[in-house]
Amino acid sequence: MIEFTDVVKSYGHGSPALNGVSMQIEDGEFCFLVGPSGSGKSTIIKLISGELRPTSGTVHVNGYNLERIRKREIPYLRRTTGVVFQDFRLIAKMSVYDNVAFAMRVIGAKEREIRDRVPYVLELVGLENKAKRLPGEMSGGEQQRLAIARALVNNPSTIIADEPTGNLDPARSFEIMSLLQEINNLGTTILVVTHEKDLVQLFSKRVIVIDDGIVVSDGEGYYDED
Ligand code: ADP
Repeated sequence: MIEFTDVVKSYGHGSPALNGVSMQIEDGEFCFLVGPSGSGKSTIIKLISGELRPTSGTVHVNGYNLERIRKREIPYLRRTTGVVFQDFRLIAKMSVYDNVAFAMRVIGAKEREIRDRVPYVLELVGLENKAKRLPGEMSGGEQQRLAIARALVNNPSTIIADEPTGNLDPARSFEIMSLLQEINNLGTTILVVTHEKDLVQLFSKRVIVIDDGIVVSDGEGYYDED
């Protein structure tokens, strides 16, 4: 579960990036976070991943209190949440298989587990026949699916996808959202950060709208036109 209670985050002088955000995302939910550029979306992602701490208020993520978390606990917090970055952050010189396997190797998984798990997640995202390709030899949609496979491989309870369809055409965007929905059906909590309201409207899901550091609406299938 992700829970923000009266969260304020200031980066220094001037008005805070988040100005009293409260929200709760339950285990197993699929939720969109939308808002214009500069509204505070990335700040929320960074608070959830433990990259930032709140200036005031509390953030709870999958059993960790971000106010009190110790430095050595942060890697464990991060394992509970897979982030799909906007720019994918794939390793260009590694094959599809190794990009995913690498995410397991860095947390010390055994080779046997890697051999079992990587083909499973590649199949889940529909890349089972592309395991030997390099990222540069694949389309944007395929690279996005690889980024999702990598975020999934360590079996996090939550996936945060940051503008997952930013560089894709509408048909591919719909495919990626459908894939995230399938992953959600398998039990993973999904938070999709986006400003593509047309796409959001195609899915009847909870939409949290943020503007200027505050939540301006929160409800199913609703998007506040600006
Ligand atoms: P979004 O992801 O919705 O575009 P951000 O969370 O990146 O919004 O930014 C929210 C506000 O915080 C903006 O006004 C932005 O300029 C400010 N901000 C973000 N990061 C920093 C930083 N590292 N230092 C100072 N201000 C920042």
